Amino acid sequence: MTISADPTSQFFQQALALSQALHEFKSVTPLLEFALTQTLALSQLERGLIGLVSETNEVKVAVACGLTETDLARVHLRPQAEFNADTIYLPLIAQEAVLGFIYLEGANSLPATLKVGLPHFANHVALALTNVRAIETAHQLQVTLEQKMAERTADLTQANRQLQKEIAERRRVEDALDERVLSLAALYQISQDIAAQLDLEAAYAATHRAIEQIMSAEAFYIALVDEARQEFEVVYLFDRGRLPNRRYPMQQTGLNSYILRTGRTVRAVDDSLTAVMTAMGAKIATTQPGSVRSVLAVPLNADAKAIGVMSAQSYAPYAYTETHEQMLATLANQVAIAISNARLFQAAQVARLEAEQANRLKSRFLASMSHELRTPLNSIINFAYLLGLGVEGEINLAQADLLNRIGDSGRYLLGLINDLLDLAKIEAGKLELFLEELDLRPLINSTLSTTAGLLRNKPIELRQEVPDDLPTVVVDATRMRQVLLNLLSNATKFTLQGHITVRVWFDATTLTVSVQDTGLGIAPRDLPKVFEEFIQLENAARQSGGTGLGLPISKKFIEMHGGQMWVESVVGEGSRFFFKLPRHHST
Ligand code: ADP
Repeated sequence: MTISADPTSQFFQQALALSQALHEFKSVTPLLEFALTQTLALSQLERGLIGLVSETNEVKVAVACGLTETDLARVHLRPQAEFNADTIYLPLIAQEAVLGFIYLEGANSLPATLKVGLPHFANHVALALTNVRAIETAHQLQVTLEQKMAERTADLTQANRQLQKEIAERRRVEDALDERVLSLAALYQISQDIAAQLDLEAAYAATHRAIEQIMSAEAFYIALVDEARQEFEVVYLFDRGRLPNRRYPMQQTGLNSYILRTGRTVRAVDDSLTAVMTAMGAKIATTQPGSVRSVLAVPLNADAKAIGVMSAQSYAPYAYTETHEQMLATLANQVAIAISNARLFQAAQVARLEAEQANRLKSRFLASMSHELRTPLNSIINFAYLLGLGVEGEINLAQADLLNRIGDSGRYLLGLINDLLDLAKIEAGKLELFLEELDLRPLINSTLSTTAGLLRNKPIELRQEVPDDLPTVVVDATRMRQVLLNLLSNATKFTLQGHITVRVWFDATTLTVSVQDTGLGIAPRDLPKVFEEFIQLENAARQSGGTGLGLPISKKFIEMHGGQMWVESVVGEGSRFFFKLPRHHST
């Protein structure tokens, strides 16, 4: 060991430079290492130790220089510098706290001045340490702060992201809801239009338009069952454009057959599509099988029976949700209603045409037959009459009776034929009225006197209540006479005693005639039937040689005059038939 000439001044200069250097440090460990080496250099010793300072001011670690565990254990028990021994402990004290120690071995060899100067150096080290610690704490604080800030920022960013996600999700749900509300409203309107359609092509097209509005459907079809031919008829087919209708035989397998058999709805999307289709033995019913990724198919049910299938297909992998399924089912119901309505309408139309045709044939037949029958019948009646007069020689009583019967039967038959002819003409719209201005009173008188001839000694009084100022009406006199006679002859047929009364009254616009009897009457349930053709009620069957045509024809005549005919009756008390005519005929 060499000691300089003026070790004290050299030491102080060195110490001064060192203490300045000490304050350049920014962290504890390098500072302490520096302090150790410099202390050793200052003391010119070879072994030394310096305590490292922890937060709790505890000296934790010793730097080498050959110290034992026991040496180290001693270190933190010594608060003051000791200069008496060969070993020196220099406490590093700042702000009344022991931060650590500088420990030197072999101190006896040190000059006294140096021993005195060392605590001063230790003070500098302690001060520098405090500073460094403060810096470190501040730095630590800053780091912690920054870390916290970063964490907080990260938290905020995360929260923000979550929030954004929630907002987006909410918006999506709201949009979806809006869309759904919109489509439901549209769907409701469209469904009603569809169900009301009798033109099926229009109904199918409207359904297709509706489907395009509410779901993605690159392909769409409606297939109906033709039971008679055991075929599916594809009545509407769209696949990148409208395709012509086609038919194919019904089979055990396939999508449509499956739906028809089970009445179920099929919804298959993306991965499950192939599996579902294969399970049903179905092929994708489109010309673009590779592109179809979603299939939705529902039954068309009418009267609790599947009459066909409706299907939408999409190139998107997850095109159809449960909502779409419900919507398609709703539309399918409407289409099914439209189809069954149209079918009913068609059936009704056909039935009506057939009935009209049959009626026309009947009328034509009746008209020609009546005409053909009348000529020979008139001859029979006339010849019987001539024979009865004895123009061809004397006849006896028995012969006269037979001739009378021939005459009666002939006239009855002629009446029947005339009725039939009238009816046929009316139904064919060929019966013409010969209108004239007529005073009904003479007509009533003459029909009443004819009626008197029909009474055959029955105790029946014929009455009339006709106002003197009865106005004229514009009518066909022949037909009016026919109506009155029919009502009066019916009254005589169904009345055994009492009276038969013809009443007439009028107001500004109408004139009403009633024929009332005190006869058998008509049961309430039979009243609506009396004006039906060829109807004879129970009460009449035995009594009269009627045909059941008189009243229907009379009613039609009255209606042709713009009037009405009706009846009131009480069983056992009698019947009263009315007809009302407009006073000013308007044809
Ligand atoms: P018919 O030629 O058989 O009389 P109508 O059409 O004139 O045919 O009458 C139809 C049926 O209405 C009659 O068969 C009879 O049953 C019932 N009828 C009509 N007039 C009377 C009446 N005044 N009283 C009771 N029943 C009547």
